[in-house]
Amino acid sequence: MEQTYIMIKPDAVQRGLMGEIISRIEKRGLKIAAMRLGVMSEESAKEHYKEHVQRPFFASLIEYVTSGPSVSMVVEGKNAIAIMRAVNGATNPVEALPGTIRGDFAVETGRNVVHASDSTEAAKREMAIHFKDSEIVNYTKIDEVCLYE
Ligand code: UDP
Repeated sequence: MEQTYIMIKPDAVQRGLMGEIISRIEKRGLKIAAMRLGVMSEESAKEHYKEHVQRPFFASLIEYVTSGPSVSMVVEGKNAIAIMRAVNGATNPVEALPGTIRGDFAVETGRNVVHASDSTEAAKREMAIHFKDSEIVNYTKIDEVCLYE
């Protein structure tokens, strides 16, 4: 099983999209192994997005993700990293297909509603920034017998 780090960004919380997004993740068959609502610290945001530190949008990105409460999650399942990237849709909502979260609920890149780790290394790194090991819950969900061969 894979684990990935998901953020419901502050714009989505303000727009009342938390339930919709969590529901899509659950219905897809992925398991929520950790979840917390809070305002991300500037330190965590800068560490999270450090690969973009030289980009022109870095300062506005940090301001955006720390502007209000967001939801941090660890989502688990077979191929969870690739599945969550597909569930979220393209970074630029203009290119995101209908049926994806960004394709259904977002208009521009700077307010694109959700984040999902893009690789195994990123998932490991991002989960460690936002969660202690003890906050990630190991449990069995009854639907696993139907979801997996
Ligand atoms: N971003 C932005 N302007 C850009 C590119 C990215 O504001 O031109 C923001 C956007 O919120 C995006 C985040 O920076 O989700 C991280 O960018 P990345 O390319 O890693 O996309 P993601 O992994 O979120 O799809």
